[in-house]
Amino acid sequence: MSRNFNFSAGPAALPEAVLRRARAELLDWNGHGASVMEMSHRGEAFQELARRSEADLRTLLDIPDDYAVLFLQGGASQQFSQIPMNLAAGGGSADYVLTGHWGRKAADQAGRVCQVRIAASSGEDGYLSIPPPATWQLDPDAAYLHLTPNETIHGVEFHQLPDIGPVPLVADMSSTLLSRPLDVRRHGLIYACAQKNIGPSGLVLVIVRRELLARSPDTLPDIFRYDRHAAQGSMLNTPPTWSWYLAACVFQWLLEQGGLAVMATLNQAKAGHLYAAIDGSGGFYRNRVEPAARSWMNVPFQLHDDRLDSVFLAEAAAESLIGLKGHRVVGGMRASLYNAVPMAAVQALTRFMAGFMRRHG
Ligand SMILES: *Cc1c(COP(=O)(O)O)cnc(C)c1O
Repeated sequence: MSRNFNFSAGPAALPEAVLRRARAELLDWNGHGASVMEMSHRGEAFQELARRSEADLRTLLDIPDDYAVLFLQGGASQQFSQIPMNLAAGGGSADYVLTGHWGRKAADQAGRVCQVRIAASSGEDGYLSIPPPATWQLDPDAAYLHLTPNETIHGVEFHQLPDIGPVPLVADMSSTLLSRPLDVRRHGLIYACAQKNIGPSGLVLVIVRRELLARSPDTLPDIFRYDRHAAQGSMLNTPPTWSWYLAACVFQWLLEQGGLAVMATLNQAKAGHLYAAIDGSGGFYRNRVEPAARSWMNVPFQLHDDRLDSVFLAEAAAESLIGLKGHRVVGGMRASLYNAVPMAAVQALTRFMAGFMRRHG
């Protein structure tokens, strides 16, 4: 068996230790004589897993008690609609700051549910920066303000959260949650699909300030209502038990690594190593994102001649480096450096990039 160095943007690499544990527990989980995905979510064994996983996540992110943690389905895309359905039902509009493709999609979908205002956008420059917060046209009466702290496709990340006043901040953290410590208290709602930095697809985490649960309107069917999911411990219906179990394993793995401050140091070092290789290539490789907004998690880069793209991908694959094809929206390459991608993988990539440049430069 040989595992590749996997830079996929999502579904993405999982920690090898977690996969080994899942394999060991697949036929017989904790002496139950069945796998976790073959047991009732209402049984004591799964209830215990659910409690412990929530407690571990609360420890990792220092989530205060006045926030509910929901383990839902439907991916981040369902949240694009579910957020305004729950938080903007009282009328009024929602503000969106656009720094890439996903924020644009979130705003488009929310526009079917409520009135949407674009408070700021870096779309004019092709989403290569974060509009200076002083220029944001914020509505003090907005139902909420939506940001995408890490734009997975454009590789644009907020490294500081601007002060936005009392309007609840809603953050799509799909590709950055758990990559570093976070001040949950500054957010009204945080959401993240699992398949980037948390676990397999099928699960989406929602961390929401409890007072916002009161906004869910009675006209909304239960399955879309945050307050109903919170009241039922995310077991309003059958949750994605296998994905939840793997996410729980990832939380334990992160605690064993020393928590999110340790991951942040590692992630910053990994990204720094790759950006240095790109910037030091004399223009053979290029990343056009404004340096202060460069993502630690997703590093898009272009080759100076895009006719080399397919050669690059083929030669990389031959050296066990996979998942490097850029998103079609921006083209070129993209290396995603989530928690499960070790420094050794990034070093293998930069060695390969240097060799490729010598051969084709
Ligand atoms: C991947 C991603 C999404 C879409 O997630 P789905 O679970 O496929 O709906 C949304 N937002 C961001 C920032 C993402 O990285």
